[in-house]
Amino acid sequence: MANISIIGLGAMGQALTARFLQQGHTVTVWNRTPGKAGALIAKGAREAGSAAEAIAESEVTVMCVLDYPASTSVIDAAASALSGRALVNLTNGTPAQARATAERVATLGAAYLDGGIMATPPMIGGEHALILYSGSKPAFDAHATLLEELAAANYLGTDAGLASLHDLALLSGMYGLFAGFFHATALVDSEGISACDFLKLLSSWMTAMMGELPGYATKIDSGKHGVNVVSNLGMQAASLENILTATREQGVATDLLDPLLELFRKRAGAGFGDEDISGVFELIRRKG
Ligand code: NDP
Repeated sequence: MANISIIGLGAMGQALTARFLQQGHTVTVWNRTPGKAGALIAKGAREAGSAAEAIAESEVTVMCVLDYPASTSVIDAAASALSGRALVNLTNGTPAQARATAERVATLGAAYLDGGIMATPPMIGGEHALILYSGSKPAFDAHATLLEELAAANYLGTDAGLASLHDLALLSGMYGLFAGFFHATALVDSEGISACDFLKLLSSWMTAMMGELPGYATKIDSGKHGVNVVSNLGMQAASLENILTATREQGVATDLLDPLLELFRKRAGAGFGDEDISGVFELIRRKG
């Protein structure tokens, strides 16, 4: 059993603490606003009077607050306590924020792991929860068993920004999926078809289309978008034009798909209409 400190008792911090307590660990908690630890204290948690006091109680501290300005203010206030400790920051932020925090924490003599939580609070400790980690490899190796009690732990590398980069990329994929769902459902909703009824059809179609992604990924990695083309970009641009025309005729907003049609047109207009739609990737990837 380990001593663990948790900073931040929002919805996620509460779930992380409850899970560690359930596993029998000694958990010290601190939250900016007092009075949020009651239920956790009843389960055995100890409440510290400051972030520095909480950090001093344990070899490893897990921080989960709103954003990086919040986590930076905690680090500033508790700087003197960090030396020789490990800080696992599960606060959501950008790769640049994670890298800057890693540098700052290193100057304070602490090991730093950044993390991206791919789960909601009720999922913590369950089989579908995943947390991505990057930063100090020795810290990850030392605490992996403990961290696995929260969620499957996927270590991505020593660059502290990698967990955030992958976290935000996965969420981007999710929002793309949701955007497709919203548009498709609005289209059938215009004729009174319910979202729940339509979803049966849509979800099996989307699952089938997931099968296209390995082929696109291969083309993106090789940069060869003109091989094994069965549904070329020119044809798909015409098809997307039809979708947007029908969308307008049905009185539905085209906002979600307009930018994609723009990219299809641009790529086809540049002479790549016979290639695959994976070529659109070349218009959005980082140049140089
Ligand atoms: P909540 O809004 O429930 O809690 C926010 C926490 O941050 C509170 O403990 C709050 O303290 C603290 N906080 C805010 N500002 C400061 C500050 N300046 N100094 C110190 N503490 C501060 O958020 P969640 O717990 O849901 O989320 C926490 C992190 O986890 C976020 O980065 C979020 O993106 C991430 N996350 C959340 C998920 C979710 O589904 N909830 C899923 C995946 C990641 P106080 O009580 O004093 O306001």
